[in-house]
Amino acid sequence: MSTGEELLRSRGLRVTRPRLAVLDVLAAGGHLEVDEITRRARERLDSVSTQAVYDVLGALSRAGLARRIEPAGSPARYEARVGDNHHHVVCRGCGEIADIDCAVGGAPCLAPNIGHGFEVDEAEVTFWGLCPNCQARRSADR
Ligand SMILES: [Zn+2]
Ligand SMILES: [Zn+2]
Ligand SMILES: [Zn+2]
Repeated sequence: MSTGEELLRSRGLRVTRPRLAVLDVLAAGGHLEVDEITRRARERLDSVSTQAVYDVLGALSRAGLARRIEPAGSPARYEARVGDNHHHVVCRGCGEIADIDCAVGGAPCLAPNIGHGFEVDEAEVTFWGLCPNCQARRSADR
């Protein structure tokens, strides 16, 4: 397991306390909204502005240290699981997100029948459904 400092240096990024704090927050796992990342980063730093957190997330994403996902109808979320072509399943009821391993592994894992001459490098796959909690709530409502 690399430390945050090693990760930042390996991508040629300057090591700063906000960057280390955000990496640390993301390393705990999950798909976090910026508000939540900011709240948790503030537990690690004396203070950090929301704008600074946005800037850090932008830099980490461009460097391939964070992945940004934005399911329809949901604010952008960030995760530390990068470098694989995993997909997401999103709950229509509560917005909960879980990872789904890609059956193929590499991108693009779906090839269009007609590519219109494009060089396709990714198929963005999002599964939609109801999470276990929302299924239980639906049964209880009946
Ligand atoms: Zn749900
Ligand atoms: Zn994910
Ligand atoms: Zn796939």
